Amino acid sequence: MTDNAKNRKKLVEHLVNQGYIQTEMVKKAMQAVPREEFIPLEQKPYAYLDRPLPIGEGQTISAPHMVAMICEELSLEEGMNVLEIGAGFGYNAAVVAELVGPTGHVYSMERIEKLVHIARDNLKRTGYAKTVTVILGDGSLGLPDHAPFNRIYVTAAAPHIPEPLKDQLAVGGKLVIPVGSPDSYQELILIEKISENEFKNINLGGVAFVPLIGEQGW
Ligand code: SAM
Repeated sequence: MTDNAKNRKKLVEHLVNQGYIQTEMVKKAMQAVPREEFIPLEQKPYAYLDRPLPIGEGQTISAPHMVAMICEELSLEEGMNVLEIGAGFGYNAAVVAELVGPTGHVYSMERIEKLVHIARDNLKRTGYAKTVTVILGDGSLGLPDHAPFNRIYVTAAAPHIPEPLKDQLAVGGKLVIPVGSPDSYQELILIEKISENEFKNINLGGVAFVPLIGEQGW
């Protein structure tokens, strides 16, 4: 076993002990994705610390416990059509691809062109290119051409829950999004679409994400 594989196993066990990973599916998915392939060279020694890491452009890759928590809250299943807002370097999308693939699909939107190219390269090199499509654009407006989505998750903090995302969610679908201030504290909200115009919101607690920049963002 390589050092990275050993450290990954240790991190996953830590996340299980901390209660962030609750299902065998999420455990297997996080065990499968090499996080070191989704971060800049100078950050590689820190790949298996449970913390966010800088990826340039003032952005970050989310901490592993946050990725685990989002995946668990979304109750992902094979075959689902998923929309991610905020691809970054592509790590979270790869973990979700493990859960919904090979028959499901992840559309991941990113507003910074340089990150779109890096995420695509990372996903291609690690074998996720068929299951994940990275798209350049303002994800606060969603991706109507590929809607409805069974699951939508936003990895940047919004001032409110964008209506286009609620519209593009399938009935029975789930949306996870941090809502709150752009520079410090937000609350992670889980929204379940009960019927075309009925939603149930659950507050999952405090988080700290970079801001969602766009028409329905900051
Ligand atoms: N999902 C990433 C991961 O795997 O760790 C984390 C991404 S980072 C926390 C948030 C990303 O959201 C940044 O790359 C940022 O450029 C992007 N972003 C912010 N506003 C956006 C928008 N309106 N549309 C698409 N991407 C956006």
